[in-house]
Amino acid sequence: MISATHIDVLLNIAGSGSATIDADTIAPHLKEWRDKFEGKTPLMLTPRTTEEAAKQIHYCSQHGVALVPQGGNTGLVGAGIPGLGDRDEVLISTKKLRTHLHLDADDLTVTADAGFTVAELQAAAAEHGLLFPLSLASEGSCTVGGVVSTNAGGVHVVRYGTTRALTLGVEAVMPDGSVIDETSGLRKDNTGYKLSQLLIGAEGTLGVVTRATFRLYPAEVQRQTCWLAVGTPADALTLLNSARKATGDRVSAFELMPAFGLELVLKHIPNTRPPLAGQFPWHVLMDVASSSPDPALEARLEEWLASNMEAGLIKDGTTASSLAQIEALWRLRESMSEAQKHEGGSIKHDVAVPVSKVPAFLQRAGQAIETHYPGARLTAFGHLGDGNIHFNVMQPAGADKAAFLSSWDAMNELVHDIVAEFGGSISAEHGIGTLKKEELARLKPASSLVAMKAIKAALDPNNIMNPGVLF
Ligand SMILES: Cc1cc2nc3c(=O)[nH]c(=O)nc-3n(C[C@H](O)[C@H](O)[C@H](O)COP(=O)(O)OP(=O)(O)OC[C@H]3O[C@@H](n4cnc5c(N)ncnc54)[C@H](O)[C@@H]3O)c2cc1C
Repeated sequence: MISATHIDVLLNIAGSGSATIDADTIAPHLKEWRDKFEGKTPLMLTPRTTEEAAKQIHYCSQHGVALVPQGGNTGLVGAGIPGLGDRDEVLISTKKLRTHLHLDADDLTVTADAGFTVAELQAAAAEHGLLFPLSLASEGSCTVGGVVSTNAGGVHVVRYGTTRALTLGVEAVMPDGSVIDETSGLRKDNTGYKLSQLLIGAEGTLGVVTRATFRLYPAEVQRQTCWLAVGTPADALTLLNSARKATGDRVSAFELMPAFGLELVLKHIPNTRPPLAGQFPWHVLMDVASSSPDPALEARLEEWLASNMEAGLIKDGTTASSLAQIEALWRLRESMSEAQKHEGGSIKHDVAVPVSKVPAFLQRAGQAIETHYPGARLTAFGHLGDGNIHFNVMQPAGADKAAFLSSWDAMNELVHDIVAEFGGSISAEHGIGTLKKEELARLKPASSLVAMKAIKAALDPNNIMNPGVLF
């Protein structure tokens, strides 16, 4: 229980405006985007500075008050919603941490407080002719604290890596209220454990991220976006590797989508049009980008397209010739999850296998779904260049949604077992949260789990930081 005394103290400990008990203000923070989780809490902390957060967290540590950090609340695995388990939890929103945003064009870094959104960092970089490469459909809402804590991926991982690769260091309030700061922008620092690395992807279980320093890159001034129809995922994979070679490794996105996924987007999302005239089983959306104007790149890409069409690997294709066309093609890809919502229940698997094994995985897992869930409609799409597939299975047309969704755990087990056989991961992007705890316990090697729990116990001996998540 969080006592009335704790609430009173926490409302005032960091000054007025740094916490609230107003139910209407708190309500939007208690529900997730997919409507899968709804939580509860009597109190939301809203620190505006690291010092305020440290005072609040120190008090919670002293009195065993459990905390759930939240940023933009775009997570999808019930990791940032308080009160989902038996224990009472206080929400600590880092959205008001928004004072410091500093870009260093010489160091090619940006340092920003936890509450800034990814879109704001992208815009700040663009103003200086630079690129913050993290790009995901939730970028207008997801925050620095959230993307660090989930090690977010997105569409540019194939070229720039995940948030882990982009993060040079973080500042965080640890579970005892102390502050660690590794945001000096160093590119090399071999002085023992890199604590930032532990906080990246920790889903708020090891501390509250208050600031982070990220790498920047020269802005992409030339961008070619192609929509390609292909016969099989194996052909798409062959094309990925040959496109990387042909363009001097300048493929910055390579997304795979099935015909059915595209069909749903065209059916449900207003103002969308088919990218190509014919019907094809699989589609690829590819971006090739360069930081300097390069007419030869355009020519090489055209040559690559022509030769692969002749070879039959590309069945048909189109290259966007304006920003509006680029946006229209990307809208088709980015609306894929949204379109599926209109077709009833959908059981999700956010999985990764080694890139070369994606075609075999899709075949095996697709067959397993057909056998065990006849009539269920598979839409497997995602970041082929990272081996990351959103393996979503929709209810049979007209079936009962609740009855279908009751198969969630059983279907997850079926698919995750196949993922494990391929040496894959049961969470490529979204994390474990409360949603996949049992699956983590079932499939993560015991020795890894023991080490993870030892780290958690050492840094958070009172188990106050997001105690319902991961384990
Ligand atoms: C439409 C849509 C598309 C998406 N596409 C992608 C995608 O392509 N790639 C991808 O990786 N993800 C994707 N996501 C998932 C989500 O956007 C990411 O996980 C994102 O990083 C979450 O950021 P957030 O600020 O919203 O964090 P929240 O949802 O608020 O929190 C997520 C986790 O981080 C923790 N956390 C948040 N802030 C802090 C902090 N300051 N300190 C410590 N812990 C904290 C929370 O406790 C929770 O465990 C998508 C989500 C949506 C809704």
